[in-house]
Amino acid sequence: MIGGGIVGWSTALELLERDPRRRVVVVDDARTGRATDAGAGIATPFTRRDMGEDWAATMFAAMRTYAALLPRLRDAGLEPGHEVVGKLLVAADDVEAAQLPEVLRRAQAQVAELGAVGIGAPELIDEAAVRSLHPLLGTVEAALLLPEVAQVDGRALTAALRRRARILGATERVGSAELLVSGDQLRGVRVDADVIASDAVVLAAGAWTERLLSPHGLSGGIYPQRGQIAHARIDRATPLPIAGGFDPTYLLCFGGGRLVFGPTREDDSGFEEAPTVGALHAMLERARRLAPGIAAARWLEIRSGLRPMSRDGVPTIGAFEHLPGLVLATGLGAQGLTVGPHVGGWAAQLADGEAPPVPVAFSPQRWVG
Ligand SMILES: Cc1cc2nc3c(=O)[nH]c(=O)nc-3n(C[C@H](O)[C@H](O)[C@H](O)COP(=O)(O)OP(=O)(O)OC[C@H]3O[C@@H](n4cnc5c(N)ncnc54)[C@H](O)[C@@H]3O)c2cc1C
Repeated sequence: MIGGGIVGWSTALELLERDPRRRVVVVDDARTGRATDAGAGIATPFTRRDMGEDWAATMFAAMRTYAALLPRLRDAGLEPGHEVVGKLLVAADDVEAAQLPEVLRRAQAQVAELGAVGIGAPELIDEAAVRSLHPLLGTVEAALLLPEVAQVDGRALTAALRRRARILGATERVGSAELLVSGDQLRGVRVDADVIASDAVVLAAGAWTERLLSPHGLSGGIYPQRGQIAHARIDRATPLPIAGGFDPTYLLCFGGGRLVFGPTREDDSGFEEAPTVGALHAMLERARRLAPGIAAARWLEIRSGLRPMSRDGVPTIGAFEHLPGLVLATGLGAQGLTVGPHVGGWAAQLADGEAPPVPVAFSPQRWVG
């Protein structure tokens, strides 16, 4: 495994649950821009913007993967940081409210086709119902409620996956990895002066994927997109539903009163992950418009990470035809906490030479030539 974010550790755990006798080494160099550490935590299979059939099928399937994974982690005494809170798409005026029935229709159609796990039965609710669910919101006309959407703390979940994989025998290597390829044959991985020979390498290096592939004349179509997000705290023991508006702003409130709001989507950031004053200002302004009730919250921090974006908007999952044994599992963009464990399951099957139902459009082969 190269990469110790949500995809890397999900894959490592799946590999070991399939066969605890094998040797799994996770190499990670703990970069400050790791996306998993910055992710907000919305785990919804439905998005207001239609992302196409392949994404929808993957996100709904990912909900079933979560439903199977969470009890396994909890039974092992690990806390995955996952809580079902529901999600509100808030319409602030008549114009936005007029769009809700169409969004509801699409959500209901997807639930009918792909299942209700992780989303529940979508419904439209009025202003009074929204206010009774969420005391921090400002102007509200109506909202779409997805009652069983969950939020997940990416750091807590990845720590639980890592702990479980370590118990099952995974080893960790801190350092920066390079791929070892001779001709059309994958040999393994080099970390500093050491060579780790391997039958299979899963590349889950997130936004940095191209840096590992380009020395070998390969591409996975990945670029970094900086995402910044703000954290503050209110006095509140229980979580609140996730609230999002018609602009890209959202607000989460985890149990214990940790508020998370933003984010930015900065396609021109390159590999610069440091937070910026301009982003902080814009996020505060947008979030206060959605939820004026956050004004009294105590400031905590800003987090910043590099989302692994793919140039054509769909993930890159699979192997190159001419280089069997190298499995790419990345390009999850803004959906990585939602689909990461599911994609990790696929990556483990691919590393075992199996053919999981990954959409053809996700194949890295599209970046060859
Ligand atoms: C602000 C923000 C908000 C987000 N909100 C959500 C959300 O609400 N819902 C959702 O589903 N998703 C969300 N995401 C997206 C999600 O966080 C990412 O898609 C996901 O975490 C990507 O995981 P990953 O394992 O592919 O990559 P990463 O978590 O970035 O992990 C890659 C790892 O590879 C390591 N690495 C790279 N190169 C090397 C090398 N050469 N050698 C060794 N190690 C290497 C890095 O150090 C890093 O640890 C958000 C992201 C951001 C930034």
